[in-house]
Amino acid sequence: MKMKILKREKRICACCMEEHEVKTVRIREQTIFKDCKVNYDAIYTYCDVADELYMDECQIQENDIRVKDAYREKNGLLTSMDIFNIRGKYGITQRDLCALLGWGGKTITRYESHQVQDRAHDMILKKIDSDPVWFLSLLEEAKGMVSEDSYRKYYDTANLLCNQKDSNGEENVIRAMIDARLSRNMSQKELSEKTGIAQAEISRLENGTRNPSIKLLQRLADGMGMVLHVTFTPKGA
Ligand SMILES: [Zn+2]
Repeated sequence: MKMKILKREKRICACCMEEHEVKTVRIREQTIFKDCKVNYDAIYTYCDVADELYMDECQIQENDIRVKDAYREKNGLLTSMDIFNIRGKYGITQRDLCALLGWGGKTITRYESHQVQDRAHDMILKKIDSDPVWFLSLLEEAKGMVSEDSYRKYYDTANLLCNQKDSNGEENVIRAMIDARLSRNMSQKELSEKTGIAQAEISRLENGTRNPSIKLLQRLADGMGMVLHVTFTPKGA
């Protein structure tokens, strides 16, 4: 068993009840959670005298969250820290975010710790993360449910996130390409046939792994029976 020492501290040891240097250690462990085998870093206290590992109340809770986070990561779900960070991005309290989403008041609190969210809720949280415009519409609907000061604060923050998103030129180009193709009711394959650009190439352009040249954009526009317009607009307009 490999253990990594994180901290040494001289105090009364809750294992042997003597005063000595007590170590906080990390051990890679495996467990089964919801029929899923997960590897995680468990935190223990180690007593050299008795050669025993034990957990205090805090470590029991922390390790429980570590197991759940390992499960979430393995299953493509947001971790407790991811959810905390999404909430942090909007500067919104746990209770107010629940109000916006129409969830029970303690739901987010639980998701940020030991309770694994279901897939539907996970998708909603991911959408909140990527879509500040949607956040604003939810905020508008929940207007009377949060204090006026909080409303103002959330509104300003989300608005700022919207502007940042708008000023991300690369994302705009990708969105414009996809929107144009969909507005023509064309699949990537059809567009590929029309333009002679390989479908794999169109796919790479649309998921942002390759940047298009202006010439390529013109060919795409041509294939869709459209013209390419590039505009420069003043900031904040
Ligand atoms: Zn001890």
